[in-house]
Amino acid sequence: MKFQSVLGKSPAVRFRDALFHGLAPDGGLYVPAYLPHLPQRLFDPSSHHSLQSFGEIVMESFIDEIPEVDRAELVRRAWTFPVPLSKLEDNLFLLELFHGPTLAFKDVGARFMAQTLSYFLQREQQRVTILVATSGDTGSAVAHGFFRVPNIDVVVLYPSGKISKLQEQQMATLGENIHALEVEGTFDDCQRLVKETLADRDLVAARNLTTANSINVGRLIPQVVYYLWGVYQLRIVFAVQEYPTIVVPSGNFGNLTAAVYAKYMGAPVGGFVAATNENDVVPEYLASGIFTPRASVQTYSNAMDVGNPSNLARLQNLFNGSVEHMRHEMEGVSVTDEETLEEIHVTYQRTGKILDPHTAVGVRAARLLAQNGGRKPFIIAATAHPGKFPEVVEKALGQPMTVPQALVELLDKPKLSVRIRAEYAEIKSFLS
Ligand SMILES: *Cc1c(COP(=O)(O)O)cnc(C)c1O
Repeated sequence: MKFQSVLGKSPAVRFRDALFHGLAPDGGLYVPAYLPHLPQRLFDPSSHHSLQSFGEIVMESFIDEIPEVDRAELVRRAWTFPVPLSKLEDNLFLLELFHGPTLAFKDVGARFMAQTLSYFLQREQQRVTILVATSGDTGSAVAHGFFRVPNIDVVVLYPSGKISKLQEQQMATLGENIHALEVEGTFDDCQRLVKETLADRDLVAARNLTTANSINVGRLIPQVVYYLWGVYQLRIVFAVQEYPTIVVPSGNFGNLTAAVYAKYMGAPVGGFVAATNENDVVPEYLASGIFTPRASVQTYSNAMDVGNPSNLARLQNLFNGSVEHMRHEMEGVSVTDEETLEEIHVTYQRTGKILDPHTAVGVRAARLLAQNGGRKPFIIAATAHPGKFPEVVEKALGQPMTVPQALVELLDKPKLSVRIRAEYAEIKSFLS
């Protein structure tokens, strides 16, 4: 399988090169040259599958350059936690993507990327240093995903005082091959420092520097796996044969792109819902046909505060740039902060389950469409554990929530980050 740029002005490359370079030389995102078709019998009641076995199947389709004997081992090391489908209410199912070490779905992709990257590095006898600028969740998933992974060092830059204590502790307490830099500045400063560093050819060559941002195919491909697994569980565990509508609470739209890939590969799926908070540029695009990126606004579901979602380019590529075509597959729904709080409250009263603010956006969108269209069933991607967002949940429920023990312990660990000023000279001396 080759990967090509959505801009079509660079040569197609194999997975290894797309993984190492992130973006194509023409500045475009990499996409698979085609979406391989999976046999329908994978979803038969007589078949026996797991998250890991679907992982091997997806790897065989997209990453055929890794031999079969190594695939099972990579998948086993990447996914040490379950991804269960649970029933919330009649016709509403949650695909629980938050059982990884940082309690959010980004663990799935980050850990797979870490394992595949390390696999190629060991074979090629190379080391790399990965630079990541983060406003919170991405940095912690990458830090944990790459922790103690051979041949890789990670340098995470985060803005001092601008991320939650929990997010900071998730990155800054690991040590060993994970180096956290607390930057006296904003997230934009962190991004600028990463760009400046990657533009310094001597330093890039000396340290073999690269980055691991969310557009990397090494994070996109593994996300296809859990949608196959989710649909399989709906049919086998819950004996629901109708094709589900998949609702994805979205920010950069990587997770939704993976869901659409799963359908186009043959998964028995109806349509999709692009659920956003008030950062609603994609629902607006679906309604008007005009894409107007704008500055993001801050909401309770802050991992979805994105005003110019990078993966829209991948969706447009899949639909040949046609918004009509895209509308056949998906609807957009935008949910306000007030509705998010209300949904956490209502769901708790009805089911006793606590939703995190991101998942609540998805559940709200599903309820809205269930009322209007009578469509069923819905699978909602549950993207984070509520324990990560105690302030919002407490606001919604009007009572304190119990934080998971693992998070309580994390808050007590010593912080190991190095504080730097937001100047290139500082990061350069750190890396030299
Ligand atoms: C990153 C994130 C999202 C958004 O995912 P995209 O792939 O960027 O659309 C949603 N929920 C949580 C909890 C996240 O961390």
